[in-house]
Amino acid sequence: MTERPVVRFAPSPNGLLHLGHAYSALLNWDLALKSGGRFLLRVEDIDTGRSRPEFEQAIYQDLEWLGLEWEKPVRRQSDHFDDYRDALDRLRSLGVLYPCFCTRKDILAEIADSDTAPHGPLGTIYPGICRALSVHDQEQRLASGHPHALRLDTVKAFEAVASPPTWREVSGAQPDDIPCDLTNLGDVVLARKDVPTSYHLAVTLDDALQGVTLVARGNDLAPATHVHRLLQALLDLETPDYLHHQLIDGSEGSKLSKRKSSPSLRSLREEGTTPADIRRMLGLPVPG
Ligand code: GLU
Repeated sequence: MTERPVVRFAPSPNGLLHLGHAYSALLNWDLALKSGGRFLLRVEDIDTGRSRPEFEQAIYQDLEWLGLEWEKPVRRQSDHFDDYRDALDRLRSLGVLYPCFCTRKDILAEIADSDTAPHGPLGTIYPGICRALSVHDQEQRLASGHPHALRLDTVKAFEAVASPPTWREVSGAQPDDIPCDLTNLGDVVLARKDVPTSYHLAVTLDDALQGVTLVARGNDLAPATHVHRLLQALLDLETPDYLHHQLIDGSEGSKLSKRKSSPSLRSLREEGTTPADIRRMLGLPVPG
């Protein structure tokens, strides 16, 4: 980890923030503060159907209430589709992308027909239907305007990188070098049918463009880091350190993490909970 880390909190404005978000935001804030680093906020709104301006406003209000400050302007992903298009062009020129015309139904039908039901930590593993299309078929479907996503051909991608990439995981007592392995992930989507990017591409590119040196996020995203590390190698991007933290989804922080839903920060605030209470509930230090 660099001495003055650049960290970020990157929520999606498709709902109100809850305790799990508060944990991640405060952890990042404390990491930056402790070492004189920088704290960035990024609005991850590529899902234009589910993102709402009122939720973006609520993010700002809730984080201010928690006592956080961030650099302005905030990077909002939907303002940067051109950056993602450029990255896709570079990946295309490396020959590691292919168009995928499948609907969800096509994928489920293919899986139902096979003996194994491939499922990985990020969900169903794409069975490779469109990877097998001939160039002629691809061109014909593209020319007829068939809606398509773009997928990463993981086999070709590993062939294109000089050596198997690793990242430094700093969540344990000692840093650990984790080798990038996409066996259980398959050919992930890098551009959706409706937007010229996907979570994986946008997050990887933005972290690099914003000079993030330490990505601290929930351990549900640890599997995705394998994809992000491979994209960094393909696109010649710097690799930050990663700290995958415990998930908090209970009403009283980690102690009650079995509870399915968690109250929003807004509702806790309205009930009279203070930011110091939130820190105590999450087991984080309360500034004196
Ligand atoms: N936008 C993602 C979310 O809200 C977080 C992405 C990340 O931290 O890498 O779950």
